[in-house]
Amino acid sequence: MRLLVVATRSPHKLAELRQLLHLPATRLVSLDDVGVADEAPEDGDTFDANALFKARFYAERTGLPTLADDSGLEVDALGGGPGVRTRRYSGEQATDEENNARLLDALRGLPPERRGARYRCVLALVEPDVDGHGTRLPERGILRRGSFEGRIATEPRGTGGFGYDPIFEPAWEAPGGRTVGLYSAEEKNRVSHRAAAARAMRRVLRARGY
Ligand code: IMP
Repeated sequence: MRLLVVATRSPHKLAELRQLLHLPATRLVSLDDVGVADEAPEDGDTFDANALFKARFYAERTGLPTLADDSGLEVDALGGGPGVRTRRYSGEQATDEENNARLLDALRGLPPERRGARYRCVLALVEPDVDGHGTRLPERGILRRGSFEGRIATEPRGTGGFGYDPIFEPAWEAPGGRTVGLYSAEEKNRVSHRAAAARAMRRVLRARGY
């Protein structure tokens, strides 16, 4: 069996990627499974840069092929923000509720057509070259992306998912319709940015023998 490190400590994220990637010949392991305690910084200007940096950082430390992701929300009325600052939108230790409240405030009074937004996810794969002389990293990683179009609701609805899901209405819902907070996990997994990126990355991995 081949090993593939997933740059996460979240058992939930690991299980989700196992299911989305569905690689029968490969064992997906987390950072804790391989005993890496270092934390990669996440201070790049783009999702691409963050995902790639994280994959390189952990591939270098483990000597194993590593998959890393970065994701976030782009809101048209905020010029594409909060973007790479999505998790910390209302402060370094912000809770989901605080982030949602700040975003609702920022868009207060705007009509549905000016509340457009999308989730984005980038997955990066880095395969190090390991021999008696050490670990060499390739110049580039392989990136695959997914997005999920929608708009920001005027108030939270539903408790499913995480993050901004209670205030994110998929584009095909009418304004005031269902938010992702009201979707089942299976329903979200058919349409999400992460699922789209994972489907694209799955093709890459299968073609490389994983
Ligand atoms: P990351 O951990 O740096 O990738 O931060 C991503 C942040 O974007 C999360 O903390 C959430 O706030 C938000 N986010 C990303 N994907 C989703 C999603 O599927 N639902 C809700 N929020 C999401």
